[in-house]
Amino acid sequence: MLSPHVTRAPTPLSRLCTLGVADARSQLERLVPQGHGWQATEVDNLGHDPGRWPAAVVRPSALVQAWLDEARASGGLSTRFDAGVTHLVHEHGQWVAKNTAGVRLGAAPAAVVATAYGALPLLEGIMGAGSGAVPLRPVKGQLTLAALDAPPLAPRPMRNNGVFVPAYQDAGLAPDWPSRVWAMGSTYERGRDDTMVETAAHERNAASLEEMHAAAAAELRRCAREGRLLGWSQVRCASQDRLPMVGAAPDLQALHDLFSAAGARRGRIPLSQTPRLPGLFMLTALGSRGLTLAHWCADWLAGRMSGEPSPLAEQDLEKALDPARFVWKAARRQPA
Ligand SMILES: Cc1cc2nc3c(=O)[nH]c(=O)nc-3n(C[C@H](O)[C@H](O)[C@H](O)COP(=O)(O)OP(=O)(O)OC[C@H]3O[C@@H](n4cnc5c(N)ncnc54)[C@H](O)[C@@H]3O)c2cc1C
Repeated sequence: MLSPHVTRAPTPLSRLCTLGVADARSQLERLVPQGHGWQATEVDNLGHDPGRWPAAVVRPSALVQAWLDEARASGGLSTRFDAGVTHLVHEHGQWVAKNTAGVRLGAAPAAVVATAYGALPLLEGIMGAGSGAVPLRPVKGQLTLAALDAPPLAPRPMRNNGVFVPAYQDAGLAPDWPSRVWAMGSTYERGRDDTMVETAAHERNAASLEEMHAAAAAELRRCAREGRLLGWSQVRCASQDRLPMVGAAPDLQALHDLFSAAGARRGRIPLSQTPRLPGLFMLTALGSRGLTLAHWCADWLAGRMSGEPSPLAEQDLEKALDPARFVWKAARRQPA
């Protein structure tokens, strides 16, 4: 679901989502024919600040494939699938990605770690395990869905504690899924990083759905009894303050030296002066909003890497995204 994050007063996340929804929507309109990977709709927000908002239901692989095709057509992309990176090392001015066997998978002067929760071991390998520099947490989520073979139970999607999508049609859904489905999701299980689809999680989705639409919850439970439910589980990656981490990775040793030398004036060192590892960037911790935020964040990061001025008028949003914010705050708190 591509929809705004509605809050009473604007927050960094709600402001980012406003930028992200508009951006992702324009990407969809430009690259994916409607009905073949996404569907424009509205969502009824039933929680605090109720209202109806423009939204879209999207099959992420359709959009990702369109981006890959476009980049490949430009000649600027080479891909390597099923190649797990276990080490990222800085050698002779290049970031070198290696697998478990130590085989070199790729090298470049600039690298972006964009592997969601998989960023943790890679970055801890560089910054040191237990440094607290990469405060990432896994949050498992399960989506419940079933074939839609009757009229939809509601005119449009609803959001409260989860999102109920009464109807979605797409011939490109997973090969063993029907092309017309309804869905309810997703559960939120902090600390879990497995992808097992569980009956108990379907029931948690039913309980959340009951608060929004009792008849739909009854239908979900009926499908469960008849063994007609489908499920999809994956792991979100969230940071400590639940905001994305996008930008240049901090250099912990140089940061320590800078703050030690500053002594009692350490509180005056701005976040922007945090030393960075040359050529190493991060784009992770997109939480439950990756579809909404991924392209906007990537575009923004590409601009910073190319030395373009930031289009963001508000500096606080840049600070809210900066991957160095956690170590910078911790260093300021240390006694001189
Ligand atoms: C159940 C569920 C429902 C969701 N619903 C929504 C929604 O409605 N709207 C929304 O906006 N977002 C939603 N999200 C969140 C969204 O899916 C994520 O925020 C988004 O996928 C994050 O994108 P990403 O590219 O950072 O990471 P991912 O999509 O997780 O991709 C990371 C990739 O890195 C690869 N990788 C990891 N480690 C390594 C390594 N060491 N070497 C090589 N490759 C590696 C992984 O295999 C994976 O392919 C949902 C998530 C879940 C789980």
